[in-house]
Amino acid sequence: MPGPGEFELIREYFSSRFQTEGQPRSGSQGSADQSVVLGIGDDCALLSPPAGKTLATSVDTLVADVHFPASADPYRIASRALRVNLSDLAAMNAEPLWFTLALTLPESNPDWLEPFARGLSETAQLFGITLVGGDTTKGPLSITIQVTGACDAPLRRDGAGVGDHIFVSNILGAGAAALPIVLGEIEGSAEQQQQVDAAYYFPEPQFAVARAIGDFASAALDISDGLLGDIAHIGEASGLGAELDLERLPIAPLAQSIKGEQALETALTGGDDYQLCFTVPEQHLRALGALQLPITAVGRMQAESGVRCRLYGEDWQPGGTGFRHF
Ligand SMILES: [Mg+2]
Repeated sequence: MPGPGEFELIREYFSSRFQTEGQPRSGSQGSADQSVVLGIGDDCALLSPPAGKTLATSVDTLVADVHFPASADPYRIASRALRVNLSDLAAMNAEPLWFTLALTLPESNPDWLEPFARGLSETAQLFGITLVGGDTTKGPLSITIQVTGACDAPLRRDGAGVGDHIFVSNILGAGAAALPIVLGEIEGSAEQQQQVDAAYYFPEPQFAVARAIGDFASAALDISDGLLGDIAHIGEASGLGAELDLERLPIAPLAQSIKGEQALETALTGGDDYQLCFTVPEQHLRALGALQLPITAVGRMQAESGVRCRLYGEDWQPGGTGFRHF
């Protein structure tokens, strides 16, 4: 059983890898990260927010064997944990600044910690976010990450209007389709394995799309629980409902190859997509279209509450309504 001394070591592990104050932030043309006055090692980090910006902050816990298999590659677990949190920043059109990590571990195992810390630091580098504090405790494996970003024009859920067009970014259903292979329930071909790895452990936070739609979108969120449930969140926050034309959904090839006839339902109700869902008023459609973004219009907001699904004009009833946490 690891004593407190070993957890001191873990802290050192992260401190040495993430000594960051005054270090260049990736994506900032090598300029020093002046926002971190004091990083890991004191009672608190001291942070200096960018002038004139609004801070966006979010926290998320990933529990072993609930949100990822405990036996998964630690490098990939770290990548997924940070990326799904970054996705929440992207959904608000916030640029990443800082994050903190609370790590609960069953044991102090360098063979696990080394790749985990490497995955975390490489992902942080990639997205220009700085680890500024953390805590380790002993217990069943779980990872809590709090991210903070800065925004000029936050994309909220509550701004959609009646008749606004509903868009999604990229493709849907890959994350949920990946799950049976991630869990080892089915094996999958080599090509599927590759797509599963990308979809599940390296989801791409949609910062570029969020930046591009910032001036046009009336509401946005990232799709973590499935499009059907998440568009309902925009509807509830905006006091509206939505209608979706399911034949338009950009279904992931992985969902088609793994789920077959269930691919549409997977794209609609499966979780773990981390794509953006956003609404755009009619008058901005032309300007948005000119940007040639990887986005697809899938429906309209309506005054009547609830979400109505149509497939080629016919009413369509889904079997589930997205991932339920409890
Ligand atoms: Mg979210």
